Amino acid sequence: MIKTYQYNDNIQLSEHFNSKEFRCKCGKPHEYKVSETLVNNLEVLFGKLDCSKIIVTSGYRCVQHDKNVGGSGSGQHVEGTASDICCYDKDGKPIDSRLVCCKAQDIGFKGIANINMSYQYTHVDMRQNGKWYGDEVVSYSTVTDDFYKYFHIERDEEKEDDDMSGALNGIDISYCQTKVDWNKVTSDFVIARAGYGKVASQKDNMFESHYAGAKSRGIPIGAYWYSYATSEAEAEQEADVCLEILKGKQFEYPIFYDVEEKRQFDLGKEKVSAIIRAFLSKVEAAGYWVGLYMSASPLKDFVEDDIRNRYAIWVANTGVSKPSYSGAYGVWQYKVGTAPGVTGDVDLDYCYVDYPSAIKANGLNGFSKDDTKPAPTTDKDTIDVEIKFNGKTYKGTLEA
Ligand SMILES: [Zn+2]
Ligand SMILES: [Zn+2]
Repeated sequence: MIKTYQYNDNIQLSEHFNSKEFRCKCGKPHEYKVSETLVNNLEVLFGKLDCSKIIVTSGYRCVQHDKNVGGSGSGQHVEGTASDICCYDKDGKPIDSRLVCCKAQDIGFKGIANINMSYQYTHVDMRQNGKWYGDEVVSYSTVTDDFYKYFHIERDEEKEDDDMSGALNGIDISYCQTKVDWNKVTSDFVIARAGYGKVASQKDNMFESHYAGAKSRGIPIGAYWYSYATSEAEAEQEADVCLEILKGKQFEYPIFYDVEEKRQFDLGKEKVSAIIRAFLSKVEAAGYWVGLYMSASPLKDFVEDDIRNRYAIWVANTGVSKPSYSGAYGVWQYKVGTAPGVTGDVDLDYCYVDYPSAIKANGLNGFSKDDTKPAPTTDKDTIDVEIKFNGKTYKGTLEA
């Protein structure tokens, strides 16, 4: 998703990047565009390179500025999908661009280039069509399909940190994922966007297809509803529309309320919490295991404790080794990447809670209680969550 920002916007897009870092450097105070996927991938790069900071030397460019700096006026910078960066290590020294190119390649940036002789500046972009790996010192055309080989850098054998033992691997999908080959999907679970807002026609275009696909393979599925509500009344209308769309289906994973609009956060913690409560309590009363999807930072700032303690929490925090949210959570959206069976980029998630057993045992989400044996998790009021990662063990407790 590419978002447009006003010149004076000063919005924290992720842990280490603010919107204003990407604005056009032509000097005119005009709006600018930034790709969310670009920022997510920059965060991953930040972690992979163990950076102290990444400076964006050029982000969005208007057509005129792009031409002024030697571009065609229609490239990735003009789209908001590129940035030129200088990465700094923990000692504050610039990291060699040759290494940055290699790591950017690992992460899946499609356009990557060393920019100049100093090997301190790197261009990265999220182009959709084809691949462009360049070394502008040598040539503007593609110079390689593997930077490791090209720069004679050895791949480090350090274990990929994507595979956390004990956690289930899942994906969340929406109208953005129009091509899913369900026979090739290997995910342990799927969370599909059911729709958005408060009007009945606002069902996600791909929801039926995604639901049918997951069911055809027996892959446990949950759903989320994207909110635009700015009042409790609107949240209840959203709940009604959402319930209408969920009707007759069975979900092994919770129904999450997706709250991420700036105009909602502008209302403040008390109001945001009231909106969330209005939606979740209504959907819960209709027999669903419900939860909240939110980025780590607003989850800390705009959600009152009763919500965080009572409902399933799905925290979004990409490019970090552990979410910056310190409360308990059941699902973590940790990366934008690729997954077997899905064409294009997709959000990747870990799950630490056995929702299917708990949901079926309680006869929720379209399941009937008589169908299933009780699961051990329902014997307790809380579920202990233990996350092993990078040799450390993180423990938390979720209310059942
Ligand atoms: Zn400009
Ligand atoms: Zn560039």
